[in-house]
Amino acid sequence: MSSKDSTRPQAASGSAPPTTTVAVIGAGLAGLTAARTLHRAGVDVLVLEAADRSGGRAMSETTALGSRVDLGGQWIGHDHSRIAALAAELGATQFRMHTSQRPTVLDGARRVPLGAPPMLATAGLLLGLEALSHIRPPQRWDTTTVADWLAKAPGRTPRRLLELTALTSWCADLDRLSVRAMMTLIRLQGGLRNMLSTTGGAQESLLVEGIGTLVDGLADELGDRVCLGHRVTSIAVGAAGVTVTTTAGAINATKVVVTVPPPLLNRIDFQPALPPERSAIAARTYMGSVYKAIAVFPRPFWRDRSKNTEIIVLDAPGIAVFDTSPPDGPGHLCMLVGGPHARTLDHLDPATRRETVLRPLVSWLGTAVLEPVSWHEKAWHLDENAGGGYTALPGPGGADADMPVQFTPVGDIHWAGTETAVDHPGYLDGAIESGNRVAHEILGALAQLSPR
Ligand SMILES: Cc1cc2nc3c(=O)[nH]c(=O)nc-3n(C[C@H](O)[C@H](O)[C@H](O)COP(=O)(O)OP(=O)(O)OC[C@H]3O[C@@H](n4cnc5c(N)ncnc54)[C@H](O)[C@@H]3O)c2cc1C
Repeated sequence: MSSKDSTRPQAASGSAPPTTTVAVIGAGLAGLTAARTLHRAGVDVLVLEAADRSGGRAMSETTALGSRVDLGGQWIGHDHSRIAALAAELGATQFRMHTSQRPTVLDGARRVPLGAPPMLATAGLLLGLEALSHIRPPQRWDTTTVADWLAKAPGRTPRRLLELTALTSWCADLDRLSVRAMMTLIRLQGGLRNMLSTTGGAQESLLVEGIGTLVDGLADELGDRVCLGHRVTSIAVGAAGVTVTTTAGAINATKVVVTVPPPLLNRIDFQPALPPERSAIAARTYMGSVYKAIAVFPRPFWRDRSKNTEIIVLDAPGIAVFDTSPPDGPGHLCMLVGGPHARTLDHLDPATRRETVLRPLVSWLGTAVLEPVSWHEKAWHLDENAGGGYTALPGPGGADADMPVQFTPVGDIHWAGTETAVDHPGYLDGAIESGNRVAHEILGALAQLSPR
């Protein structure tokens, strides 16, 4: 059976469900990494995936010109060594993003000069934020939202710039994100400079073949152990092991690894119920909203006129634009719209949506930008298996739903997924970290079970 086959765990009518030693729920990078490590260690493992594809929040497409684009996670940060190592192992080609280091800010048809007072004010506010992210948060930051805080920022342009920085960085609803949670995110992401930078930061490089090539490499090695179209609906722990019920049949396992994004846990019926502190995580988190598009051109034509394509569009919807073209072409322009702005695009028909996203760039890049040869888009908040992106966010309230979310096993149920990563949570690298961590956790637990 290939990884496209969706029938493996089905038991013949009336017979006992098939068994495996470890059932991994979710074929994102965390689940695939965990499964491959276990498989290589000789453990019988099955990956149960709700969608009809592997990859989860990593998803690549092939353009009309044959190049590959990532609609989900794409950047490899300068210190994201796990994903870089996986790319090297699977023979993928990593390249540094073409960057100018300083964004062009477009306010309508006007370019806001870098040295202009609003830009200097924004830089000052960002430096202040960075400094504050290292102090012990006062309690009032739990109840002050980022929207409240932004309302006090002096001047429209600095306010808009900070708002778009936050929306593009976390895809949050800013009236649901507390200042404390924002400071924690900044700290977890290695500080603002690391978080926002291309060279030397979290957006340093990409893969020519797309992150999907890593997903394919992992899934291919697992072969028929990856079962697509198997949405897990319940996990029941009994005396004889764990019964995992899916939309395509049930399966018995000794151990289960759950990698689904935390807010989606409430779609799985756990028997017995999870301890309250564990089930609270689903209730206390939500997925961000994000729309991503890539426009493909025969060449990165904007470079002929030295046009910087790290652009921030201040008008609504706010858009962050990057030149993600591979070294040998074609031209790829990547656009991100985060938070509530992303949702405003949902009701538009595809042609109007494309025009809405590209039109604001005409004043800077010319009308050629309106005519891509290939157009790729995805609204992640409309993807029922992801729930949104980039990550789960803590709702208003205390710190117990912050990343890394709790991953202490509950009996035979173990937890992974980027939100549980201690290093680079929220990133592709964090997904791999969590997959490796849980695989070793399980290997240790299985070793204790086996007779000496
Ligand atoms: C638009 C976007 C841009 C991003 N950009 C970057 C970037 O540039 N760099 C970076 O490092 N990170 C980026 N990220 C984040 C990165 O993609 C994620 O951190 C990573 O892919 C998460 O992997 P995961 O395996 O933890 O979770 P997921 O990929 O979400 O995997 C979970 C899997 O569980 C499956 N599932 C859900 N419910 C069930 C169920 N009930 N039964 C069975 N299966 C189920 C899902 O279908 C999914 O396949 C981005 C994310 C998005 C959405």
